[in-house]
Amino acid sequence: MPLFGHHHEQFHEVRDTAQEDVDALGTDLQALEPHLSGAPDEARIRHAEAQKAHQRAQRQLARAKHPEQLAAISELLEVGRYQLAAATALAHRQPIPERRPPCFFDPRHGPSVTAVRWAPEGGAQRLVPVCAACAKLIREKSEPQARTVRLLQNDDMWFWWNLPGYYGPWASGYYQSFGGGHLINDLLVGSALGAGIGLVGDAVGAATGVLGAGIGAIGDVVDGGLGAVGDAADAAIGAVDDVIGDLFGDGGDGGGDGDRGGDGGDGGDGGDGGGDS
Ligand SMILES: [Zn+2]
Repeated sequence: MPLFGHHHEQFHEVRDTAQEDVDALGTDLQALEPHLSGAPDEARIRHAEAQKAHQRAQRQLARAKHPEQLAAISELLEVGRYQLAAATALAHRQPIPERRPPCFFDPRHGPSVTAVRWAPEGGAQRLVPVCAACAKLIREKSEPQARTVRLLQNDDMWFWWNLPGYYGPWASGYYQSFGGGHLINDLLVGSALGAGIGLVGDAVGAATGVLGAGIGAIGDVVDGGLGAVGDAADAAIGAVDDVIGDLFGDGGDGGGDGDRGGDGGDGGDGGDGGGDS
């Protein structure tokens, strides 16, 4: 079912974005190869698992014809990224990382290691899962390098969370193993989609016709009309804290108690991010 007009062109655009992600994983897999000789067997096993996921993603992308099909590809890439992170840790004689949601800023950063408070420009604070490098940047009051995409209609770079709805399946696929559409909606609640963030001005929204809906449409696209979108919006950041807090085993920080000015210190550390499968 064509959700938007021009869906052929739109598919090619989002397909290119998925291709970038597939290629980036391939490059990172290759980069680890020289470090595998002399590494524990388990490192090579994990690397092979990551390669398998990468190859499946590549094959599925070659066959894909609709944005909805990209969710499964992002899901495979998330598995590949996790296995790559495990292989990398083993090759460096470090413990295998927990399976946690990808870094919010760019899934190509691999699995998150903690959650931190962060607010997009003009948006509400929320707890987001981050990789170690992004956590460090936020602690230092720097802005992490977030995933951006160049849209064909206006030839400009957009943060992924401001992309039009047809990017929804691509983006949410990364979080499929961690609550999927629910988690990503919670992450995006209060990002002032289509309003607060300067990039998504009314003029641009009107020009493209879909930006107003924004990536918030993920729930609809992926979960088939997720009624929880509105609920989540009402619960706002309290719900976000609960979801991310749960993921990071941090039950104590979910209340939304108004004490979140400050410096956005680490949200939830330690705890169990959900099984290693
Ligand atoms: Zn990161």
